Amino acid sequence: MAPLRLYKRLCAALALFSLLVLSACAAPAAERSAAETPPPAKIEPKGKVYYSYFDTVSYVYDYAGDSAERFDERSAEVSHILTEYHRLFDIYHEYSGMNNLCTLNSRAGGEALELDEKLIEFLLYAKEMYELSGGEMNVMLGAVLRPWHDCREAASSDPSSAAIPEIGALREAARHTDIALLEIDREKHSARIADPEASIDVGALGKGYATERAAEYLESVGAYGYVLNIGGNIRCIGARPDGSGWVTAIRDPDTAAEGYACSIRISDTACVTSGVYERYFTVGGERYHHIIDKDTLFPAAYFSSLTVVTHDSALADALSTALFCMSADEGEALARRIGGVELLWIFPDGEMRSTPGFSAMIEEPTPS
Ligand code: ADP
Ligand code: MG
Repeated sequence: MAPLRLYKRLCAALALFSLLVLSACAAPAAERSAAETPPPAKIEPKGKVYYSYFDTVSYVYDYAGDSAERFDERSAEVSHILTEYHRLFDIYHEYSGMNNLCTLNSRAGGEALELDEKLIEFLLYAKEMYELSGGEMNVMLGAVLRPWHDCREAASSDPSSAAIPEIGALREAARHTDIALLEIDREKHSARIADPEASIDVGALGKGYATERAAEYLESVGAYGYVLNIGGNIRCIGARPDGSGWVTAIRDPDTAAEGYACSIRISDTACVTSGVYERYFTVGGERYHHIIDKDTLFPAAYFSSLTVVTHDSALADALSTALFCMSADEGEALARRIGGVELLWIFPDGEMRSTPGFSAMIEEPTPS
């Protein structure tokens, strides 16, 4: 990752952390005025930061006041889970002693490959998300995503010669993106990509899926009052010790603005935002971001950002990408069918729309 991008993400995450801390330290006014109940002893949150997963920055926070030993143990296990999924999902590198998605891509068109049970489960989930999203989130879009990725990388090293992929090449690539090309044999723990020109890319849901597995572990050991922030995929485990939620801010997608669009109070849930400001490059004054609409083969043009709040971080991540590629009406209808999914859309002109459940979470005033 380019140092500047890493720095910006780090700043954004640190800003978010301070916001969470701020929120954790300030006891609600109603509690403070209850003279008969002394305020609960202030618990200093503990945090750990990791730089080696999913090309982004990851944080584990404990607001529950666990002992340093227990926090170290739990965060070490979270780190272990993230390491494992990072390696399994990596499409650019292979690791000794394991078959991962890079191996699967390199064998496209060849024999079925034996895979770790965890990867088989994930691939089945990815297919489920394809069906759920009506094909908008398609992990087999790799052949189309690759030229966009390459152009973005080239533009980053030499902005003066930045160019977008040829539409003819994109159309040709799109012929190799059928989800059925990903063949999974659950009994044999194997999978195969049935076309040498096809490839898998799990950027749309890998991080959220790994985050959910880490949250699942924390819940299984009885953790409560933890927050995971894996490259902006936020997952709260329980609530703060006083039962209230955390305040998290949704960034203003206008890249010229450094502020926030709004902030929400959440607990025991996941919050994931996809935005045009995350990864993009510019050609002739036009900005091209990283979420590709299967119908146009170009960056989806509906919104500047879309935020999903739902309990499961994997679902939140899958939907953040899928709903980015459909109108707000279609997205809202899909969210209703699924249930327990709250949304905030920010349109290119700055207008905002949210589901009633999302509006109910908004905290005033919006932080600047
Ligand atoms: P981020 O990973 O930046 O948080 P997203 O969750 O929206 O953002 O995922 C975007 C990534 O998903 C892209 O970088 C690309 O790898 C992949 N992707 C882009 N468009 C699609 C799509 N329509 N279906 C599946 N994957 C996609
Ligand atoms: Mg996503």
